Amino acid sequence: MKYAIISDIHGNLEALQSVLKEIEGKEVDSILCLGDVIGYGPNPNECVELIKENADIVLAGNHDHAPLGKIDISYFNPWARSAIEWTREQLTDESREFLLSLPLKTEVDGFTIVHSTPYNPHEWNYIITIGDAIKNFPEFENQVCFIGHSHVPMGISLSEGDDCRVVKDNPLKMNKKLRYIINVGSVGQPRDLDPRAAFGIYDNSKMEYRLCRVDYDVAETQRKINESELPPFLAERLEVGQ
Ligand code: ZN
Repeated sequence: MKYAIISDIHGNLEALQSVLKEIEGKEVDSILCLGDVIGYGPNPNECVELIKENADIVLAGNHDHAPLGKIDISYFNPWARSAIEWTREQLTDESREFLLSLPLKTEVDGFTIVHSTPYNPHEWNYIITIGDAIKNFPEFENQVCFIGHSHVPMGISLSEGDDCRVVKDNPLKMNKKLRYIINVGSVGQPRDLDPRAAFGIYDNSKMEYRLCRVDYDVAETQRKINESELPPFLAERLEVGQ
């Protein structure tokens, strides 16, 4: 099966629409969403609607839970916090109900998906370093785990001899003897200095993964942010991908 794996949309409708259009041309069997559908961006309900219509499995991220009062928002940075407060005001009952129903981690067709980390996903920790990855490999049984949360696309492999390293091949032809943690990047707020929306395509029969990037109308999203009460910084960062 061929899967499109998307994450961290963050209420950015233009980015989500562009990604879904790009996915249409890729003949995927299923779309999986790793969470953070909302938060930061100006169109939370519209993004929830589109995700509901298009994704077969949707996980919850910390930004999906934050406006619902499910987690303490004091640890978020000030921009995130004011976006959460703004988003809370916008959410419809339907969106709220949908977001409340989402799991944190699951298995799909022989691989694992989670927003943050396989280990205690509700703690919302990050996998950024090799050390973070080493701690998390024993926490899932499948060969591959896909994650989001940091908004930075990344692949880390682990050999049977416990050699853990960053993998940069794109496309990535997976080695049967290695295990992988792969971050698919962010649709709506990339932070790897590439402003294009990011998502992954995984073909589990060929064991092949590809990171995809797609342009979207950044200026339109920025315009909407600037016309709302959201912090202007959230518009600025989109154009630099940071
Ligand atoms: Zn996020």
